[in-house]
Amino acid sequence: MKIKLKPWIQDLPEYVAGRTIEEIKKAYNLPDVYKLASNENIFGPCDNVKEFIRNNIDDINYYPDSEYRVLKKALASKFNITSQNIIIGSGTDQIIEIICDGYISRGDGIVIADPNFLIYEKAALKCGGSAIKVPLKEFRQDVGGIVSAVNSNTKIVFIANPHNPTGTNIKEEEFKYLINKLADDILIVLDEAYFEYLSPEERINTMGYLVKKENIISLRTFSKVYGLAGLRIGYGIAYKGIISGLEKIRLPFNVSSIAHNAAVVALENDWYIEKIRDIVLKEKEKFYSILKKEGVSYVQSHANFILINCGDFGTEIVEDLLKNGFIVRPGENLGIKGFLRVTISTPEINDKFLSLFIKIYKKYIE
Ligand code: PMP
Repeated sequence: MKIKLKPWIQDLPEYVAGRTIEEIKKAYNLPDVYKLASNENIFGPCDNVKEFIRNNIDDINYYPDSEYRVLKKALASKFNITSQNIIIGSGTDQIIEIICDGYISRGDGIVIADPNFLIYEKAALKCGGSAIKVPLKEFRQDVGGIVSAVNSNTKIVFIANPHNPTGTNIKEEEFKYLINKLADDILIVLDEAYFEYLSPEERINTMGYLVKKENIISLRTFSKVYGLAGLRIGYGIAYKGIISGLEKIRLPFNVSSIAHNAAVVALENDWYIEKIRDIVLKEKEKFYSILKKEGVSYVQSHANFILINCGDFGTEIVEDLLKNGFIVRPGENLGIKGFLRVTISTPEINDKFLSLFIKIYKKYIE
């Protein structure tokens, strides 16, 4: 082909998409298939949000409010900040991309833990930048190692809290260390996609830091605990100078009107967060106790998924689970071979998963 991509785009790794429910039903002739691969909230959004979406499609011939004023106002009041501190994106994925578009040129770099949520590196490479990757230490982001890895080309440090794919968190003293050690011209992106799954005592008071420091942006999403992954809406909160820069890049209608309005209703029903978090906490305990009893090792998680050690048989176990109607994420797609990542689901589906998993696990590992 004579048409050539930019060289650094040509070299980008391809994203390995997860398998769909329909695909697996057809491939293995299964009536029921459970997708526990992408950390969605399997309970979906709360009933008020669903009802609102069903009853509010009459205005979709109009473009959305390009400023997303109603949602920004609701978020500003929730966090005691102003609308100028907020950017709305088509998922936090898009905000990560906007951040790299704004701050990464050819030759610039980001520093991240390895493995990590793949979009950070992809967004930086797309801009001609590069990523320094600091190995996890006992499945946790090594904040000291990240600080030491920063060099004169570093423009951004990404921290996922909780981290994906391990589910581990970073502690407040680690975060303080990071912000004290990094120069003020390095942007710290604190990706808090799973923030709401942390129990209150584990949460870092991010907003307290954001009002004092100009080089931090926190990312949160409606995709996880709010159950709106399919609508694609998330937000970023930072000093208004950072937000106004990012707003120059954001396309005017980057989020649909349905997503905008549904997110407002989701915020009005914030009680739902606690309900889902409590179910997930209880279900994680069930996972831990069964896995422990059966001698399976796993990583203690602060999010709504668990990374399970499958020894030398990660690929085989994931394939056997698929054949039986359970789609989980194989570790090799996440940079952590020999493991699988499973999303916490309803108590009934979790029970089915656990008994099947243990049976398959024992077939390979005794
Ligand atoms: N950050 C992390 C750590 C994630 O795991 C995800 C979703 N997989 C996202 C961000 C993106 O979420 P969304 O774009 O749906 O808001």
